[in-house]
Amino acid sequence: MTMTRSSIRLALVLSLAAATPAAAQQWLAAPGAKTNQSSFRAIDEWADPTEVRNAGGSPGPKYWQQQVDYVIRTTLDTVANKLTGSERVTYHNNSPDELRYLWFQLDQNIDDPAVSRAIQASPALPPKLSPMARRFLAPEIPAGMGNRITRVQVASYSGTGKARRAGALADAEWTVNGTQMKVLLPRPLAPGSVVDVAIDWTHLVPETSRNGRGLREKVKDGWLYEMAQWFPRASVYDDVNGWQTDQFLGQGEFYLNFGNYDVSITVPRDHIVQATGVLQNPAQVLTATQRERLVRAMSSDAPVFIISKDEVLQPSTRPAGSGPLTWRFKAEKVRDFAWVSSKAYVWDAMGYRYRPGQAPIELHSLYPRDAMPLWDKVSTKAIAQTMKTYGAMAFEYPYPKAVNVHGPVFGMEYPMIAFCGARPQPDGSYTPQLEYALVGVTIHEVGHNWFPMIVASDERKWTWMDEGLNSFVEYYAQLEWDPNWPQPGLRGPAKNIVNYMKGEQQVPIMTESNDIQVQFGANGYAKPATGLVMLREQILGPKLFDQAFREYSQKWAFKHPQPADFFRTIEDGAGEQLNYFWRGWFYTNYANDQAVTGLEMQPADSLIGSTNRGKHYARVTVENKGGLVLPVQLELTFEDGTTQKVKLPADVWRRNELKYQYGLFTDKLVTKVVVDPDEVFADIDRSNNTFPVGATPPAAPAS
Ligand SMILES: [Zn+2]
Repeated sequence: MTMTRSSIRLALVLSLAAATPAAAQQWLAAPGAKTNQSSFRAIDEWADPTEVRNAGGSPGPKYWQQQVDYVIRTTLDTVANKLTGSERVTYHNNSPDELRYLWFQLDQNIDDPAVSRAIQASPALPPKLSPMARRFLAPEIPAGMGNRITRVQVASYSGTGKARRAGALADAEWTVNGTQMKVLLPRPLAPGSVVDVAIDWTHLVPETSRNGRGLREKVKDGWLYEMAQWFPRASVYDDVNGWQTDQFLGQGEFYLNFGNYDVSITVPRDHIVQATGVLQNPAQVLTATQRERLVRAMSSDAPVFIISKDEVLQPSTRPAGSGPLTWRFKAEKVRDFAWVSSKAYVWDAMGYRYRPGQAPIELHSLYPRDAMPLWDKVSTKAIAQTMKTYGAMAFEYPYPKAVNVHGPVFGMEYPMIAFCGARPQPDGSYTPQLEYALVGVTIHEVGHNWFPMIVASDERKWTWMDEGLNSFVEYYAQLEWDPNWPQPGLRGPAKNIVNYMKGEQQVPIMTESNDIQVQFGANGYAKPATGLVMLREQILGPKLFDQAFREYSQKWAFKHPQPADFFRTIEDGAGEQLNYFWRGWFYTNYANDQAVTGLEMQPADSLIGSTNRGKHYARVTVENKGGLVLPVQLELTFEDGTTQKVKLPADVWRRNELKYQYGLFTDKLVTKVVVDPDEVFADIDRSNNTFPVGATPPAAPAS
């Protein structure tokens, strides 16, 4: 998802937690400490390595995860705005454990006051609400919203391998607990066994929702339907949580199983549908002209219109006949399935290849005419940029298609399909900022295919593992799109996050998603992304960092990593013990405030009996006043006006985390010292960075 500035403000409105008292400092290995308080010590929060997750942060020899396949038939009733569906879920128990029940996620229940924990636990409204806050905090949600489960049945299997056969379906006992549903199995599901669950359901498609990720909206040419979290999805059973049954409260996103999907979607004949997965029946749902244009688009390196602006709503764009049409999509190895439907879509497409001769990856953009002339200019090209940068930094895109769709959802991701909201003014005008916003949000949402759609972390617990890593790669993709990309946001350059790091409204990044009640965007997106830029560019260097980051991405592709798996992989690949960095940046709110507090010069021969190594010896005192342990970078100015930069590793703080003295032999007197001269370490108080105090600091580097 994308946090807009408004939603970051909203996170402030939601603020409940008090600031962390600075008095609770336990991080410093200060002289006289009676226990090991070193920032460099091992991190207790990391679970011991196992044969499932090893000490190098890799899936171990006994790594396992469940597989869940779905066959779904669904019909959209555009008069009642109601979705009706029936699904057959094939659950493969790859765990070493016997399962007596399965849990499913019913996300639509977030809008059902009878069961929604998000509604029941919401605090009183503040005295003032911005229109945006009103939309999220006090949405007018009509009665009747939520999942209506009409039948649940289970079929056990007999036999094994190719002889395995599903038995007859029989009604099962099931219970709804908020956004979770428990289905009892008639007999325990042994390790290695399979069971089918058939669920019939219906729900009203929301126009406003506490979820906000799957919505409908009326534009000039008709309704846009963006369908997300629209069917009961199996919860994850894993080696860390057992069943992950944390309620869906709106903030902590989704943790899902990989599987294969076969989905048939019935909509009015005049609608165009796009979805996760490959369309199975183009001859039935597209015209011959459209199919011919699609073929042409795949060998084009510029977007080709499949449905142009002038063709929207024309009967010639739809196959002749009457009655609804069923669109069938199949997807392999995906962890979710989303789709869109509307008669209002303009559609453009092109192919993307990592190398000549490769089968093209289909890139598609769908948007109403209201989104032109912006979307036709940049959307599909921004998808291509995402393929390129993420392909280089993580791994090449493994799915056959990637789609970007415009509608009411500002920014949300699903496998192979993203929803983005940036829209020109009604007269078609837009600012350069809006164009950057659309490119940025497209890169971000399409980038989520890598994190967490493929590197499938537990989003409900750890927002940073997908939003932070994704925002990190997004930063580089944006710079590749435009080297002069304006960087007013928090994500990327260290100096942009200083104000956040100064503030009291913080909780550590390693706080579970639903418990981050302050500055959610800065916490889950910006701070981890900025920390990784710092780690890459200042601490490890791009070469070692990039190798380790790719290693993490590739070995956890189509698997479920935990935070320590990421930390351990980076350490393993970069050959650095980074406890101090993970501890400070991820597990605390401490900020970086390095100060130069002293500069002494003495004749070198008074120290070592000669001037062979320089006439003088300079001693520079650097103090750590913020609590965060980071490397030290100094700029020394000499009496003749020349300067020299010194880059010191974080190890300088191993002896004493409060104070470090740097020494150097020199022929010239040092007249001035500046710490963090290039503003790469998010130092929150630069008034103490220059010594002697009052000397002119170096000009701020260009951003
Ligand atoms: Zn996101």
